[in-house]
Amino acid sequence: MNDKVDILSMSMDELIEFMEKIGEKKFRAKQIYEWLHEKRVSSFTEMTNISKALQDKLAVNCDIVTLREVKKLESKDGTRKYLFELNDHHVVESVFMSYKHGNSVCISSQVGCRMGCKFCASTIGGLKRNLTVSEMLGQVYEINRISGQRISNIVIMGTGEPLDNYDVLIKFIKIINSEEGMNISQRNITVSTCGIIEKINDIADENLKITLAISLHAPNNSIRKTMMPIANAYDYDLLIEACKDYVKKTKRRITFEYSLVKGVNDGIECAKELSKVLKGILCHVNLIPVNQVEERSYRHSSKDTILAFKNVLEKHKIPTTIRRELGSDIDAACGQLRRSYTKDKNKEV
Ligand code: SAH
Repeated sequence: MNDKVDILSMSMDELIEFMEKIGEKKFRAKQIYEWLHEKRVSSFTEMTNISKALQDKLAVNCDIVTLREVKKLESKDGTRKYLFELNDHHVVESVFMSYKHGNSVCISSQVGCRMGCKFCASTIGGLKRNLTVSEMLGQVYEINRISGQRISNIVIMGTGEPLDNYDVLIKFIKIINSEEGMNISQRNITVSTCGIIEKINDIADENLKITLAISLHAPNNSIRKTMMPIANAYDYDLLIEACKDYVKKTKRRITFEYSLVKGVNDGIECAKELSKVLKGILCHVNLIPVNQVEERSYRHSSKDTILAFKNVLEKHKIPTTIRRELGSDIDAACGQLRRSYTKDKNKEV
């Protein structure tokens, strides 16, 4: 690591302040921001509307963080999974998915994760560190550059707990959404959380138009506790209350993710209980057949069980979809590629 300024992580306001600090005119900030986030150059010499002297000054003081692709897997369905190496040699994974409504990129928010969900591969080696804003942006920029495809949706559902890296997350959203940047609509950004209540309250106050997805995975606290250690810290009923407050404040429909695990949370009784819990909430339920992870004992439910679960929710007028299993042939579930790469290399990354 060096001590150069991470210029890609700066908001427009921070860049303006930085220009003034190094004795430059304010308006240079907008030009440089556009080079970084709209045209996405990787060196200061490409910034042709600023002087050679300023280019040199920036090169001495600042770094443009870039990620290095170390592995790419392509599924039969077109899903592409990337493993990127960061400057300190940690690796993160990101996924490109193509849908009828546009292309979506799923990115990581941390190296590893400390939440310990029992079904998830990302959490097996624990949390290494938070990602920086530039490393979150870098995953989108790099996939856009490599694939040459337009990206219209971002889902922050890769490795890590985004609300555990809150300030970076908010800055990332503002930069990726900015007109002088990629200009991705907030409505096309989804943030998925395991349910850190005080941060849900905070994000409700940010006045964002994003979609918040809650990894609920259970109809009550006792089942949730067996799947997600976070349920010991945040009571189920209080989490549901926080979700109701979020909807009230933001007027945005909330998504509940529910990974179905055979014999654990997939029975008709669970579906009925969940319907009661969600009654009256402006929401949508996304059922996910659990992706089997070698180190974990969970198995996915049968097709019939999944359909029966969906039917119960729909009978109670809760909009429900079953997530399409994209990229199941390429370890596309959260953390699985990074995990297998780490095992191959037989070292901690
Ligand atoms: N920490 C955040 C975001 C990362 S996980 C969160 O908890 O929401 C993204 C989603 O994938 C979550 O809903 C998570 O519960 C789910 N997930 C992780 N591993 C999975 C697996 N093996 N099978 C199915 N869903 C999984």
